[in-house]
Amino acid sequence: MTTSLFLAHCNICGSTNIERYLTVKQYKLVVCKDCGLVFRSHQKIAPQRRLNESQSVYYSHKYNSRITAKPRDALASLYDWWKADLVIKFLTKSKMLLKGTKVIDIGCSVGYFLTLARAAGAKVLGIDVSPVAKQLAREMFGIEVEVGEFPNSFSLSHSKANLITFNDSFEHLLSPFAALSKAKKWLSRNGNIFIRTPDISYCKNRNSLRKWRLLQPQDHLYFFSGSSLETLLLLTGFKVIKLTRVSGWIYVLAESQTKVHVSDSRKQPIDRYLFQEKARKLRV
Ligand SMILES: [Zn+2]
Repeated sequence: MTTSLFLAHCNICGSTNIERYLTVKQYKLVVCKDCGLVFRSHQKIAPQRRLNESQSVYYSHKYNSRITAKPRDALASLYDWWKADLVIKFLTKSKMLLKGTKVIDIGCSVGYFLTLARAAGAKVLGIDVSPVAKQLAREMFGIEVEVGEFPNSFSLSHSKANLITFNDSFEHLLSPFAALSKAKKWLSRNGNIFIRTPDISYCKNRNSLRKWRLLQPQDHLYFFSGSSLETLLLLTGFKVIKLTRVSGWIYVLAESQTKVHVSDSRKQPIDRYLFQEKARKLRV
């Protein structure tokens, strides 16, 4: 049994004004004409339980290979440390990693980023879909990880965070909108969100997109530009305070808002989204 999850509407703005964008291997990508979100469509997605199992197998293989002594895996591990360090530098420069800051990393893997954040003085907690990641994070770095599919598997069972991070995990989520909505509830007043995700606007045209090393449509469900990501943050109650593009990646830092100001240019898709949300609720 399979379930179609990405058929009807854009996950950001709720629009059904969607057209074909690109087909890579057996994966069909579509684009929302209102907010620019590119996403996988008409995919047969395995049910939640099977998805968890398949991801655990994937992570198990990947993570296990990274802690062996083979030179290639040592290089992979070095690459992960380097990527984590780039984010630490970004957050430190933005004064986000002060002593005692509580950080929750969603999709934390074995905890490279959290290990560095802890060294910078933060209190840290990881969330990951893989039980193998949990085990390795504890054994290798003494990092605590809660296991499950975010956001559906979780309720708030811990104190609120000052900073929630998504390091290369946001594009894997089934619903980025639901993830940010829940993350907002897990944040203290005026808490912050950090996201690093591939930047689809890095590719100049569809041919270069086909060859893009970060496309990976077998794992990545959503492809953001700075603009579509900003719209999503706005709609889920965040104000962007810093957004930079580095070598095909977007680094964005946003602050949780009690009241959100929406500019006129963004109102149309937002109104449509709110209308469709109401329609969806009526149908349930
Ligand atoms: Zn949209």
